[in-house]
Amino acid sequence: MSVCIIGGGAAGMVAAITARKNGNEVILLEKNNELGKKILLTGNGKCNYTNINMDVSNFNSLFVSAVLKKFNEKETINFFKNLGLETLIEPSGRCYPISEQASSVVEVLTYELNRLGVDIRYKSEVIKVEKNNTFLILLKGGEKIVANNIVIATGGITYPLTGSTGDGYNIAASFNHKITKLLPSLSRLKVKEDLKFLHGVRFNGLIKVISNGKVVKEAINDIIISKSGLGGLGILEVSKWANISLNNKLKTLIEIELTPLDENTLYNRFNNLSYKSAFDSLIGLINKKLIKTVLRNSKVSEDILIKDLSYDDLGKIINELKHFTFEVVDYYLEEAQVTHGGVSLDKIDNKTLESKKVKGLYFAGEVLDIDGNSGGYNLQWAFSSGYIAGKLGVI
Ligand SMILES: Cc1cc2nc3c(=O)[nH]c(=O)nc-3n(C[C@H](O)[C@H](O)[C@H](O)COP(=O)(O)OP(=O)(O)OC[C@H]3O[C@@H](n4cnc5c(N)ncnc54)[C@H](O)[C@@H]3O)c2cc1C
Repeated sequence: MSVCIIGGGAAGMVAAITARKNGNEVILLEKNNELGKKILLTGNGKCNYTNINMDVSNFNSLFVSAVLKKFNEKETINFFKNLGLETLIEPSGRCYPISEQASSVVEVLTYELNRLGVDIRYKSEVIKVEKNNTFLILLKGGEKIVANNIVIATGGITYPLTGSTGDGYNIAASFNHKITKLLPSLSRLKVKEDLKFLHGVRFNGLIKVISNGKVVKEAINDIIISKSGLGGLGILEVSKWANISLNNKLKTLIEIELTPLDENTLYNRFNNLSYKSAFDSLIGLINKKLIKTVLRNSKVSEDILIKDLSYDDLGKIINELKHFTFEVVDYYLEEAQVTHGGVSLDKIDNKTLESKKVKGLYFAGEVLDIDGNSGGYNLQWAFSSGYIAGKLGVI
């Protein structure tokens, strides 16, 4: 059988290796002049490629379950070990190549593709696919390729400079597959408040996404404030829920607990420091750059002594410390790590990843409506789904 894999990212490379090992003639089409451009950016250049705490709860859909059962994190670690890549497992469960270089992942995969004799075609951008008895794949520039099966592994729409520009959605739609709403996941958030005085603030805290008055997601992790928005691992973790809320045109707030101390402890603290000004009383409790904003929002003057404040005023400061709020106004789609949404799963066989509409049409990776949490789950999905799609139904 001949198979054409469209997209030489994480999913496409593994799909091509698997298909070739099963004796198929494999052509891998990549629009860039290199494979795995996005992989090089992952894990801050170190590639957090899986996680030993793999669980379906880390994904948006139980659809992943059947696929992960067949090719899980252990199989992935072993797959890479056989290619010469040893794994560093962090106490958190995140796994990286021991070289701590994302390029190692791309290089061992590329070596294997070449060793197996996969026909890799660089600078080959697919613009259209048609099907009669076989698939006819049309490339920009006019070249045509014929194949019995195809795997669409073109990724999502974030970081388009890596080549992921959403082309796979158009190909899927041309075969009458539904595409769900595309939104950023693991993204920074743009907020209404002016952040120029808070630029550079970084701390760890409880973050809540409040959509139309209801808490829809919570996380405790890093928050990094910059002039242009809120970032940090904690914000990335909750961003999808904020983006969904925003997309539904609901008022969307990010509420942050600036201190884990409870109300009573905070009242006692103010009592002990009653000789200090409101401003000085907060030094040592929260990042100094936040103090002016906390007091301004509480309508308490910076210079007033704590002993001259009423119980109500102290309550206002405490409320601000426990519920420091930003209003989300926009998302950063292009620089998100993952696309939420994609080819709708209802017409995809979860055991083979073949289309239920078109025989021989397979999907792998982020192009499907699957997104995972931060921690190696998205690359694991790309590898697992690439492996299953590359089996072309022979499982
Ligand atoms: C900054 C950043 C950091 C990340 N860090 C992590 C991390 O540490 N751990 C983790 O698990 N995930 C991480 N991710 C997410 C992860 O990189 C992706 O989920 C994963 O790469 C998706 O793999 P894919 O093969 O489906 O798509 P991609 O990797 O996007 O590959 C798609 C490929 O298809 C090619 N292509 C597209 N259209 C065409 C066409 N028409 N013709 C031919 N070729 C085409 C593209 O050029 C590209 O090479 C990160 C993402 C980013 C942006």
